[in-house]
Amino acid sequence: MPQAKKIETKSTWDLEKEMMTCTYCGFCKSVCPVFDVSNWEGVGPRGKVILAYGLREKEIPADESVLERIYQCTTCKNCERRCPSDIKVVDIVESIRKDLVANDFMYASHRAVVDKLLQTGNPYGETKKVTYRHQDKKKAKVGYFVGCTARYRFPSITNSTISILEKLGEDFLVLDEVCCGSTIQRIGWPDDAVKKLLEKNIKHIEEKGVEKVVFTCAGCYKMFKKVYPKYTKLNFEVKHMTEELAENLPKLKPLRKKITYHDPCHLGRYCGIYDEPRKILKSIPEAEFAEMEQNKATAMCCGGGGGLRSAFPEYAKEIAARRVAQAESLKADMLLTSCPFCVTNLSSGKDKKGAKIDIKDLVEVVDQLI
Ligand code: SF4
Ligand code: SF4
Repeated sequence: MPQAKKIETKSTWDLEKEMMTCTYCGFCKSVCPVFDVSNWEGVGPRGKVILAYGLREKEIPADESVLERIYQCTTCKNCERRCPSDIKVVDIVESIRKDLVANDFMYASHRAVVDKLLQTGNPYGETKKVTYRHQDKKKAKVGYFVGCTARYRFPSITNSTISILEKLGEDFLVLDEVCCGSTIQRIGWPDDAVKKLLEKNIKHIEEKGVEKVVFTCAGCYKMFKKVYPKYTKLNFEVKHMTEELAENLPKLKPLRKKITYHDPCHLGRYCGIYDEPRKILKSIPEAEFAEMEQNKATAMCCGGGGGLRSAFPEYAKEIAARRVAQAESLKADMLLTSCPFCVTNLSSGKDKKGAKIDIKDLVEVVDQLI
């Protein structure tokens, strides 16, 4: 970590109006999951806006305490929903992170993620190729973009999705993708590296003749739906598995359980997918569906995103434990979600709390019930 110093802030240069528009009203604080566990003003969204502005104006130096505040954010976007002035807090956070990284202010854990990804194509640094059924097919109409977490850490999610696509009779193959780039983009790594990953993925998808790409990871889906189109035109359709299933609702076997659903931020607040997973869950015969108090646009973050889990694992776990407690208060048997990274972090929260609730990805349950 360099010595404290005033830094050049090229990425934040265009955001002056955005920062100046913040009235410091503090409404955003009430929904920030990291402020909720830390209780530090600087950690709340308006604290981050003030710090980013201070760095931009060279009023304050970058140092370890500033780095800590700016990186204690899951980029969940909940503050933006609450902001009466419509401040793009996540744009400010991600831009000032780029400036910090450009000036060598970076956590060792984040640098390790970047190094592993640049060397191996995945943020886990896995060098052993993991392949799945239908991965060696030459061409198909539908391509399943597995994503690094499901491929290397949650084969049950990958296998369930493959099994569902088989049962639905889809003409599909499993893509041999590289990381979508979300992980490194969220922590402030330059866009050029993200664009290289994008080019590799798009070339591979086009070579396979794929007309529609389906996703189980909310983060990968958001990259293809919202970020990649900023850089290039996509000549294929982009669908999350919850959209696919809601459109072609399969007949499901009964399940005598009480179920609740956690909206992943990248699927919900970023992409507006709220009704599709609920339509699927409500179609399960004999299952009782119950909403947590904070649901859809107001859903609390699982705590895992934006690099928080790698740099501040205790905060990430505590946020997850609080979300799991909300599900348990309903006396639900199952907490389902639609993102392998949310399953990972919510499971850490469950362990921390010693909770009993069953945490799974929605596709794992649907596959068992078809
Ligand atoms: S970001 Fe929005 S909600 Fe938060 S203090 Fe500024 S104006 Fe208020
Ligand atoms: S994006 Fe989420 S974690 Fe980050 S400041 Fe806003 S509410 Fe807090």
